[in-house]
Amino acid sequence: MKTTLRTDITVKDICDGFVYNELEGKGLFGLSGTLTIQPEYQRNYIYADGKRDVAVIESILKGYPLGLIYFNKVSANKLEVLDGQQRITSFGRFVTNKFAIKDEQGMQQYFGSLASELQNLILTTKLVIYECEGEEPEIKQWFKTINIAGVPLNNQELLNAVYSGPYVTLCKAEFSNSQNANIQKWSAYISGSANRQEFLECALNWVSKGNIDNYMSRHRYEANIIELKNYFTSVIDWVSGVFTSVESEMRGLEWGRLYELYHEQGYDSKKVSAEVKKLYGDPYVKNRKGVFEYILGGSTDTKLLDVRVFDEATKKSVYTNQTAEAEKKGISNCSHCAIGHDANKAKIWKLADMDADHVAAWSKGGATDIKNCELLCKPHNRAKGNR
Ligand SMILES: [Zn+2]
Repeated sequence: MKTTLRTDITVKDICDGFVYNELEGKGLFGLSGTLTIQPEYQRNYIYADGKRDVAVIESILKGYPLGLIYFNKVSANKLEVLDGQQRITSFGRFVTNKFAIKDEQGMQQYFGSLASELQNLILTTKLVIYECEGEEPEIKQWFKTINIAGVPLNNQELLNAVYSGPYVTLCKAEFSNSQNANIQKWSAYISGSANRQEFLECALNWVSKGNIDNYMSRHRYEANIIELKNYFTSVIDWVSGVFTSVESEMRGLEWGRLYELYHEQGYDSKKVSAEVKKLYGDPYVKNRKGVFEYILGGSTDTKLLDVRVFDEATKKSVYTNQTAEAEKKGISNCSHCAIGHDANKAKIWKLADMDADHVAAWSKGGATDIKNCELLCKPHNRAKGNR
């Protein structure tokens, strides 16, 4: 890879012919049309938050260095931004009056309202740019190793760069576009943001059963994303059909895995809804995220709910009574041992070697209070399993 250091290009040069696409949230072109600011393997513009974009302009005004920028020289008259897209889009948007900064008096100032010497200061600022020339794999490999302006690329952003092509472009248009009207519905079930590719990552993860890398590589040159879209829609439609009310704990669950396991079973959404409500109101359920899988699996695996256990004081008090009783009768203080025929028949276990158990199982309505508490020796409690 050949690199050339350029220090002659100014903010004004870059902003000549700058185009920003509001709909896609992308800085598109600069340098009189010869520079592509956001090639398809780049992530979306994420600096438009009134903090990071403002910080770029304040850095310029204070004369702080903006850091290195890297261009990829595609041909004699064609450059792409390899690293620096967020910074370039920030000053491009500022110079075209897309956002304001605050001056020393705390007043909002757009570029057009700045004093002309400040405007000049920004426009004449020179950038430090490396132009790189090389083969595509080499450039991409290198791109994989650099961080952009302190916000490291996440895994999906890297994969989008590595497998860039028609498929990724279509994927991003569907799943990474914050203007997509479906995003709000999806965010009930998926955590993260469209901009950081987390919806796309989720969709790919579901359809590929966790093999995103492999899936993207196989579909890289395809010009349709029908399979991905259909699968994703099936999962979302299934979840929203089974669980008709949306709870915040549903966000980010492994819906793809649950869909695979349970979508062929029928559920009565009214009954499901009533059961969710009941479990949400149950003070013994510690893990609400587990409620959905618990119900899908037939309401048996109480481990998913992390049911509240008996506290130490309760255990101690039950132990004392239980042991006194057993000693009077000359039998083991574990009721299971006492009815056995081996050496443990009359064994008095220490508190530390016993576990508290629900007499009436929690899943069958047994409460976690002292009246429903019994201590069993650890081996018997383990053997019983279902609390
Ligand atoms: Zn026992």
